[in-house]
Amino acid sequence: MSTDYDNDQPSITTLKILIIGESGVGKSSLMLRFVDDVFDPEQPATIGVDFRVTSMNVDGNRVKLAIWDTAGQERFRTLTPSYYRGAQGIIFVYDVTNRSTMERLDHWLTETETYCTKGDAVRMVVANKIDMPNREVSREEGLKLARKYRALFIEASAKTKEGVQCAFEELIEKKMGEVDTMEN
Ligand code: GDP
Ligand code: MG
Repeated sequence: MSTDYDNDQPSITTLKILIIGESGVGKSSLMLRFVDDVFDPEQPATIGVDFRVTSMNVDGNRVKLAIWDTAGQERFRTLTPSYYRGAQGIIFVYDVTNRSTMERLDHWLTETETYCTKGDAVRMVVANKIDMPNREVSREEGLKLARKYRALFIEASAKTKEGVQCAFEELIEKKMGEVDTMEN
C-alpha cells in the first residue's frame, strides 16, 4: 500500500507567485498565456480571474504554483500586506510601449522590499508587449532597473508567447535552487 509518506514519491512544493504592475501592462494576459496558453485581446480589463493554480516540473519534482493576479486593485495602489504575505516569487510587469509603466515599477519594487522579508521572494522584471512597433523603453533600460533591485529580467509578449514560459521557469528554477541550498 502506498501512502503520502513514501520516501520515493516526488516531493510536491507549492509556491505563491504574485504578478504586479500598472493597469493595462498585460499582467492578466501573461498569466492566461502561461496557464491556459491563450491570448484574448477582447478580454475585459477587470476580469474575474485573480487567482490560478497550475503545476510544472522542475528537475523531476512537481511544483505547484498558486499565481495571484491583482485583478485591478493596482489601480488604487493599495495592495494589502496579505497579498504579499508568503510570496516566494514576484513578477513585475511593464509595457515597453509606455515608459511611465516602467518608472512606476520603482514604487512596487520598493514596496515589496518593505512587505516581503528580505531574500524571501525571487523577483523578476518582465518587459511585456515586445511584439508592438511603438517601443518606448529599450532592453538596456529594463535590464538596468532589474539590476538595481537584484531582480531577474526578461522581455516577453503575451500575444506572441515569446519569453512567457521562460519568465516563469527562470523564476521558479531560481527559487527551487535556493530551497535546495537551504536544505543541504
Ligand atoms: P492588466 O491590466 O495588467 O491585467 O493587463 P491586461 O492583461 O488586461 O492587458 C491590457 C491590454 O493589453 C489588453 O487589451 C491586452 O490584450 C493587451 N496586451 C497584453 N499583453 C500584450 C502583448 O504582449 N502584446 C500586445 N500587443 N497586447 C497585449
Ligand atoms: Mg488584469
